[in-house]
Amino acid sequence: MTKKKTEEKAQAKELIADKIEEIQDEEVLIEKPQEGLATELGEIKEIEEVIVEEVKKKGAFEKEAWKPKTSLGMMVKNGEVDNIDYALDKRIKILEPEIVEALLPNLTTDLLMIGQSKGKFGGGQKRVFKQTQKKTQEGNKPNFATCAVVGNEDGYIGIGYGKSKETVPAREKAIRQAKLNVIKIRRGCGDWGCGCRDAHTVPFKVKGKAGSVEITLIPAPKGTGLKVEKECQKILKLAGIKDVWSRTEGQTRSKLNLIYACFDALQKLVGFKLMEKSAQTLHIVEGNIVR
Ligand SMILES: [Zn+2]
Repeated sequence: MTKKKTEEKAQAKELIADKIEEIQDEEVLIEKPQEGLATELGEIKEIEEVIVEEVKKKGAFEKEAWKPKTSLGMMVKNGEVDNIDYALDKRIKILEPEIVEALLPNLTTDLLMIGQSKGKFGGGQKRVFKQTQKKTQEGNKPNFATCAVVGNEDGYIGIGYGKSKETVPAREKAIRQAKLNVIKIRRGCGDWGCGCRDAHTVPFKVKGKAGSVEITLIPAPKGTGLKVEKECQKILKLAGIKDVWSRTEGQTRSKLNLIYACFDALQKLVGFKLMEKSAQTLHIVEGNIVR
């Protein structure tokens, strides 16, 4: 088989996988709440507002009360490790969210809109929780899923997914996961016409992929803003990127794939080997350290 045909085949496969995922979602998405369940669902909107508010209120991390369980955690607690780059550069898996809280004190958390409500309760509205329900012998069991993003608006970003029978545990799982998934990114001034020497955009064009969705982040001059889909805007903002152009391909209706593709692109920023000369001309900042 030629290379082109193999590529086409792979693309078709991805599209089918996306479609199946979508159909499965549709089947379980709550269309008409059943008797008894209706009140519960009607309250979801209010609950959701409270939950989003709670996330934004930042509780101070109490280092004294923390009892680390891993050797990295202990090194962070006793001050032997005082920079998250120690773990990220050595590719040490972070297993305690407290490590990230201790090393990145200015972390902001947000929830991404991955759900969509249907019918009676504000049909078509974007929601933080994706609600599904499973038909079992004991009846219908609702499930809630959400996607959290954490970032310090200065070069560090993480996203996480959480699913549970109730909203609060789903949120907690997602936030915990987002912290454990923290990465550092590269910023710079990669737009040839800009030349402002600030690290306000991506240093070079970068592509990210998830399922059939592909996103390209392109350097933009200062003042452009984030010309990208709304949920990706939240991610880039928390990563510390202020200006960017973008291009997307594939089934962007699948919000989760778009979010994952965006995160994948950011992850790839540090993957490239940098020549010292280009590090200077692009004014690259890695994490929050000038290269
Ligand atoms: Zn610039």
